[in-house]
Amino acid sequence: MIADWDNTYARLPNQMYAQQVPTPVASPSGLALNKNLAADLGISFDSDWFEYMSGNKLPDGANPISQAYAGHQFGHWNPQLGDGRAILLGEVTGGFGHIDLQLKGAGRTPWSRSGDGRAWYGPILREYLVSEAMHSLGIPTTRALAAAATGEKIFREQGPLPGAVICRTASSHIRVGTFQYFASRNDLQALQSLFDYTVRRHFPEAKTVEDLLQEAVKKHASLVASWMAVGFIHGVMNTDNSHVAGITIDYGPCAFMDYFVPTKVFSSIDRQGRYAYNNQAKMAAWNLAQLATALLPLATERESAIEHYTEIIHGFSDTFEKAYDKAYSQKIGYSASKESSKMIQSLLKMMAEQGADYTLTFRALGEGTVDEHLGDHPDFKQWYENWLNGAKMKELHKVNPAIIPRNHLIEEMISKATTGDMELFYSLSHALNTPFEHPQNPRLGMPPEINEEVTATFCGT
Ligand code: AMP
Ligand code: MG
Repeated sequence: MIADWDNTYARLPNQMYAQQVPTPVASPSGLALNKNLAADLGISFDSDWFEYMSGNKLPDGANPISQAYAGHQFGHWNPQLGDGRAILLGEVTGGFGHIDLQLKGAGRTPWSRSGDGRAWYGPILREYLVSEAMHSLGIPTTRALAAAATGEKIFREQGPLPGAVICRTASSHIRVGTFQYFASRNDLQALQSLFDYTVRRHFPEAKTVEDLLQEAVKKHASLVASWMAVGFIHGVMNTDNSHVAGITIDYGPCAFMDYFVPTKVFSSIDRQGRYAYNNQAKMAAWNLAQLATALLPLATERESAIEHYTEIIHGFSDTFEKAYDKAYSQKIGYSASKESSKMIQSLLKMMAEQGADYTLTFRALGEGTVDEHLGDHPDFKQWYENWLNGAKMKELHKVNPAIIPRNHLIEEMISKATTGDMELFYSLSHALNTPFEHPQNPRLGMPPEINEEVTATFCGT
C-alpha cells in the first residue's frame, strides 16, 4: 500500500489520543475494495491490500492512534468513550486535502472498556454499503475504502460470528463529543488546540467560536434536511456520533424508511423514539447546544458568550426550516415558497395516511405514475391537478432516487455474506452507485414483501 501520509492529529497535544497499533488477525482476506475511492485519494494497493485493511500490515508513513472523546448517549452524559475499536491510521493527502483513514474493528484500545475491539460482518458490510450509497445520493458522509474479513470468530448475543474490519475515510473524525471530553476535564490547552485544528480543517473562514457555531448550525441543518429528504434515520445521534462539521458518521442501527411513517424508529435501543425520523432536527440542535456549552471555556466574557451562543443555537430551527423547504421543493419540482410548503405538507399527509412507500412515491412524481401510490386518497385528485400546474418535471429524477439501501435487502445481504456468498453485496453496491437510475435487477429497488419486512435494526457491534 502506497499513499502520501500526514499525521496532523497525532501531532496535537498527547492527551487527545493514545498511540495504538491494530491487533493482528489470524487469517485476513478481502471482502470489498473501493478502487475508485483509492484512486481519488492517490492510494495504490497491491494484491496484499487486505493485509493493510485488516490491520496486519502498517502502511509506511502511518502513525496509528485512537482518539479520545466523550458524549451524551441518549441524553446521558458519559465522560469517557473514545475509539474503543477504531484506529486512525493517519491522513492521506493525495486527493482532497487531508483525509482520515480509520480502521474500525481493528482490536482493543485504551478506550475499549469491556468490549473486544472487534466487529462482525453485519455492521461492517452495512456501513460499507450505506455510507457509499449516502455519498452517491450526494449527502456528506464518511466513506468506505475497504472491508476485510479477519478469519476470526467473535462472540455476540447471536453466538459466534465472522469478524471483519472496515477502513473508512472522512474529512476528520472530530465529534461534538471530542470537544466535550476536554471541556469536562477543564483541559483548556487541548480544547484550544482542538478548536484551532477544527477551524483549519473544517471552518477556514471562522475567526471566533461564534463563527464556528454559526457554520456548524448551517451544516447540521442541511445534513438533517438531506437525510429526511431520502427517508434516512440515523438512529443513534448521540453527541459522540455527531460530527462537528455535519457529515454523517457512525452507521449503527441506521435505516431508510420503506412506507412513510413520520415518527418512524427502527433502532432496537431507541425505546423512547428520541432519534425518530421527525425528531432528528431537534436532536441536531440539542447536540449543537452541547457543542456550544463545550466551547464556553474558550470565551473571555462568559455571560455575553452565553447570550451569543444561545442566540446562534436558537437560529437552528429557522435555518433547518429553510433547508427542509429547499430540499422538499426540489423533490416536487418547485422553487421554495409558501405554496410549495403547502403542497409538500399535503403530499406527506396523504403518503402517511396511505402508508405509501416513501422512495417510490417521490420517484413516481417524475414518472407520471404517482396515482398508483396515492390514487385512493380522497384528496389526491385535487392535489395532483394543483401540483401539475406548477411542477418542473425534468429535474425530479436528479433528486428522487430510484433505489435506496433497503433494510430487508441489507439483512439478506448480511446473512448471505456470512455464508460466504457476497453476490448480493456486490450487486447492491453496484446499483447504489447510481441511485438515480433504475437498478438492472428491479427487485433491488422494490419495497419488502410483507414477510420480508424488517421492523427493528440493532447496533450489533
Ligand atoms: P457506538 O455505539 O458504535 O457509537 O459506540 C459507542 C462506544 O462504544 C464507542 O466508544 C465505541 O468505540 C465503543 N464500542 C463499540 N463497540 C465496541 C467493541 N466491540 N469493543 C470496544 N469498544 C466498542
Ligand atoms: Mg460511535
